[in-house]
Amino acid sequence: MGISGMIADANKILWQRGLTLVQSGAVRYLDNDAWLNHTNVLAETNAVIDAMMDSTNSMGNAVELYFVRTLDGDNGPLGLRRPKGIAIASEAGGRVIAHEVLHDCGLEDIYIADDQGNPLLEQVSEQSIPADWGGGYYNPWVLQHGLIKRLVMCSRLDPDEIAGTDLPSGNIRGWHHGAGGGGTSLILGPAKVGQSSIVKTPGSH
Ligand SMILES: [Zn+2]
Repeated sequence: MGISGMIADANKILWQRGLTLVQSGAVRYLDNDAWLNHTNVLAETNAVIDAMMDSTNSMGNAVELYFVRTLDGDNGPLGLRRPKGIAIASEAGGRVIAHEVLHDCGLEDIYIADDQGNPLLEQVSEQSIPADWGGGYYNPWVLQHGLIKRLVMCSRLDPDEIAGTDLPSGNIRGWHHGAGGGGTSLILGPAKVGQSSIVKTPGSH
């Protein structure tokens, strides 16, 4: 799928917030092989990624999208949001673009399982999703990790899982990094994955 098709798919998700990505001008090709496959992408500093993202500067007025081949190899993340821009791997689609743009708006990742891979098997209750999905009426067999899979901010799902695109109105209980950010171990609690935590217009510096 071409870039315009992926952006059209991302927009179908971002419309839940009234956001529309519009391509500014023609696609620009960066002639540097060192920027095709990135490594150590979750490190706090990464001079190669910074150099790539400094090749364009929208001064925060636009989202800078960098389409690369891989981020930490074939099993690495499909998207990466940094203040300077968003990198998208070749295996990604519109859902990854929307997910990374929503990080730029202030949302965080939510996970169905803890750091050891234990899924969140508790049943859905009104306390765990106070603002969303049915006002307290749920089928008795619905588990919290099943609802988390529906979220656009759900991260690190198995590739064979169908990743959801929901942008709920409020916080959702699940495994998340919390205030410590991406480098910290996961904690269980209300994750900022909904409209109520969108605090800014996306943009890259
Ligand atoms: Zn994420």
